[in-house]
Amino acid sequence: MSDIMKPMPFAQLMDWALSEHDAEGTVFGVKKSASYEPGSGIDLFGGRIEAPFGPAAGPNTQLAQNLVAGYYAGARFFELKTVQVMDGAEMTACIPKPCIAPGDVCYNCEWSTELTCEDALGEYVKGWFAAKLLGREWGLGADDGFIFNMSVGYDLEGIQSPKVDGFIEGMKDASNTPAWEECRAWALANLDRFEHVDAAFVESISPQVSTSMTVSTMHGCPAEQIEAIVRYLLVEKGLDTCVKVNPTLMGYDFVRERLDSLGYGALSMERTNFEKDLQWDDAEAMFRRLIEVAKGEGRQFGIKVCNTLPVNVTYNELPSDQMYMSGVALFPLAIAVVHRIAKTFEGNIHISFSAGADENNIAELYQAGVWPVTLATALLRPSGYDRFAKMAENVGLVTGSGKRHVDVEAVAALDESCVAGDRYRRPEHAQGKRSLPAELPFLDCLACRACMTVCPNRANVVIEVPGFKRKQIVHVDGMCNECGNCAVFCPYEGRPYRNKPTIFWSVEDMDASENDGFCRLPDGTFRVRLSGDTEVYDVDDAACGLVDEFRSVVIAVRDRYGYLLGPSAER
Ligand code: SF4
Ligand code: SF4
Repeated sequence: MSDIMKPMPFAQLMDWALSEHDAEGTVFGVKKSASYEPGSGIDLFGGRIEAPFGPAAGPNTQLAQNLVAGYYAGARFFELKTVQVMDGAEMTACIPKPCIAPGDVCYNCEWSTELTCEDALGEYVKGWFAAKLLGREWGLGADDGFIFNMSVGYDLEGIQSPKVDGFIEGMKDASNTPAWEECRAWALANLDRFEHVDAAFVESISPQVSTSMTVSTMHGCPAEQIEAIVRYLLVEKGLDTCVKVNPTLMGYDFVRERLDSLGYGALSMERTNFEKDLQWDDAEAMFRRLIEVAKGEGRQFGIKVCNTLPVNVTYNELPSDQMYMSGVALFPLAIAVVHRIAKTFEGNIHISFSAGADENNIAELYQAGVWPVTLATALLRPSGYDRFAKMAENVGLVTGSGKRHVDVEAVAALDESCVAGDRYRRPEHAQGKRSLPAELPFLDCLACRACMTVCPNRANVVIEVPGFKRKQIVHVDGMCNECGNCAVFCPYEGRPYRNKPTIFWSVEDMDASENDGFCRLPDGTFRVRLSGDTEVYDVDDAACGLVDEFRSVVIAVRDRYGYLLGPSAER
């Protein structure tokens, strides 16, 4: 196992998506797709979205395959993982792993993208291009029915650095980026793989990948710094801009009381985190000024509710001093922030939302004028991306000019009801991991697919292997950053990202890991590690010495799932 993710070349990404769709009727393991009626959609940030929801900036918007899986499932607003001046290996080294713990309450100690700014730009461009091609090919919706929304942090100096500025400008116009040329060249050379994509369509794809931004600031960022960043993005960069606010805006006492009333008394918080964060009076005055700045520039200014809540690590939840709470427990705090802002501005303000949103509350939020709505925690739980299809069904047809008005009464009702019923109350019985009293087997586990649906990067894959009654799980090393999420949901004692047969994309990757697994060599043989011993085998030779059942796994991957073998694998 290795915690370094490797971007997939566009050729492999597309081969994977098209081959899996043809053979299995799924795309990166996503079973349910949502498609939208021609002409549906609602205006936003100079574009149009066919559905008012999608993945939040986080683990589900880091790699191109995350974006393709989300688009196929029905997401139409993508808040891309935050990019900042500290990136790549330097960032990865700062994140203790595992970094996600989605139990009763979801915690994380992750941060911005673990890719370099340049690779992040490449992934977003590839995801954009792939969604355009696949959407057209499979008739999933209008060619321009989705929006990519950038997220940058965390201070003005970093955002103005050549590295982050290069990222922003590349997203505004990707036509001169290497990733754009890679996508365009692949598409033009592979038109025979499509029925509904031709050269004219490929050349018509807009290189304007994003014209909008959600600003992420650190907890404790001074008000003047937040305002300076938003002004800079609105005025100098010409971007529609939302600023993400924190639940701390409601003050320690309110948050403590509300959490206690819902059964979250054991959550430990520091009052100082509330005192050093943005205060309400400063926030209100700042929002009023920024609304005027945006009007003057002909841009949209909005507020994103909300960031995570910093809490103390008290039961070894994660290997960190502090962690960040998200998910259902955050909803009652976030909706109080929405209510306060909406009431103060009499509804005349753009509010987007992310805090415990899912298929059960998306319709209420959208009908209250609070959108787009993004998800992170719900996507990290079983069903994962498949939830988007249910969300599309629950929201129904979306049409309109996108004129923003939050229904203050509807928001007040949501604020009131979330503390009245049991929906947002901590469950009485902790929802711990239901472990089978057994170690996770290398082959032939229950094949419950949980590790596949909860993996944001799609690094666990279900395959069919002749000779086995049940499906098998293989793990793709290059796509995993050891976030730990799949281990939380596997019913066995064990970690799928550590204990399942692992496919390596290079000998170097294999040497950097202790996992048992295999790697295809240039001459067509396979380097295999089993029980720690590494040998090279010609798997077509039944007498090669490799144990038969594992030889079947390797052959099945090679012959039926060749795209798993990596960028250099010949099909
Ligand atoms: S395989 Fe598991 S540890 Fe790796 S990225 Fe996916 S969920 Fe995280
Ligand atoms: S490895 Fe665990 S989570 Fe994955 S399919 Fe097998 S039993 Fe289910």
